[in-house]
Amino acid sequence: MMEYPHKPDSPEDLLNTTFEPAIVFQARKMIEQGRVTLSFMKGSFETYFIVSGITAENNTNYESKISFKQGKLTTQCTCKLWNAEKPCHHAASLLIKFSDLQGKADQGAIAPIGAAFLSHDGVHVEKYGTLIKSAPQIPGAKMNSTFSSLQYTLVNRKTVHFPAPSKWKGKLKVDLIPASSLEEYKEVLYVEDKFTYRFSWIDGTEELKEISLFDLMYLFNWKNGEALDLPNELRELISKLKLVDIIGDIQDFIRIFLPLKTKGITDLSINGENWDSFPVEDMEYRFSINPSPRKSFLNLELELFTADQNLSPCPLRSYFLSANKGGQAAFELKMMRYYSLKHL
Ligand SMILES: [Zn+2]
Repeated sequence: MMEYPHKPDSPEDLLNTTFEPAIVFQARKMIEQGRVTLSFMKGSFETYFIVSGITAENNTNYESKISFKQGKLTTQCTCKLWNAEKPCHHAASLLIKFSDLQGKADQGAIAPIGAAFLSHDGVHVEKYGTLIKSAPQIPGAKMNSTFSSLQYTLVNRKTVHFPAPSKWKGKLKVDLIPASSLEEYKEVLYVEDKFTYRFSWIDGTEELKEISLFDLMYLFNWKNGEALDLPNELRELISKLKLVDIIGDIQDFIRIFLPLKTKGITDLSINGENWDSFPVEDMEYRFSINPSPRKSFLNLELELFTADQNLSPCPLRSYFLSANKGGQAAFELKMMRYYSLKHL
């Protein structure tokens, strides 16, 4: 058999010969919506490359991998749509995203991907316990950095490469804290009643605050340079968090975090106090009908109060009305008690 010398394919050619136009269109949409995260990449279009990543779609994370060797692109994906002859848009999105990143690296005349390995400067975060949505967000990282291409300066000043991630262990802890207690939100309007969240990691009996969550992928330990693969439940949690503001109503955050606490995947605390330490309180309620300032209208008012006649504040009233769904009710009663104790 004749062997033809391999001519480098353009990324565009490779895309169009491997994937159908409709698939390419869908893949671009996934990228525009910020649903695609590259977890590993190596090589270039001129030689060979391997790229893997995750696409978040319909509350599921699909893991795909593409590799290019001797002019041939092979794909893999965990979704049901994928097959070797007709690969899916998840796989296509990896190719597009990788080619975009390579393009950026060339234009800027900065070193191609992989050169970050040559740098001896490690990166570090400004704050622990936060979600880092993408590698370039870390101070010191470049536009085209990925989590696996960076070097990290640990708490002890040692600089390390991104490690081979290990299997998830321990528990993620979420602390809901008043947004106004953080320096960076002091200037934000209407921050008084808002909350935000911080993560820490519980390993056995120890709580480690020096961690970051790297997108949907990893928990990074700034003390020993270990990275843990996030389990699926946490990946889904992070997909949700990426869609909501970092500061918001405490009820909204509780609604997001509590199901995972119930499943034993996370611990939950409010301002450092463990969720389980808040007492469950029976609430009484009464309706009253009052004249309305609007002619021929009456106001119907619902008041919630505890046995010691502490009135629950307004925002929770509407909550209570929607609370008659099993375990949901108990947590909302707790919240009311929490509010009663703190605010009245
Ligand atoms: Zn797929």
